[in-house]
Amino acid sequence: MNLILKTIQFKTIESEVKFLTENGYTNEKGRPLKCIHCNGINLDSRNHQYMDTAGVCEYEVYCKECGKSIGHWAYGYWEV
Ligand SMILES: [Zn+2]
Repeated sequence: MNLILKTIQFKTIESEVKFLTENGYTNEKGRPLKCIHCNGINLDSRNHQYMDTAGVCEYEVYCKECGKSIGHWAYGYWEV
């Protein structure tokens, strides 16, 4: 959970995803574009984990401006 999402009560996951994409925090696939903590756009991905056959399978995205974790990507899906 984070500051912005904590202050907004979403009735459904769909409305939360809609909010994030409409406000430019994620693209339509859920990939982070902007920091949900400070609105920074300098993002960094770390902690890559690799599988022999599929390449990168998991990594985490951090904001370079405030240093907080924004999202975790695993097997093609984002968790914000
Ligand atoms: Zn930030």
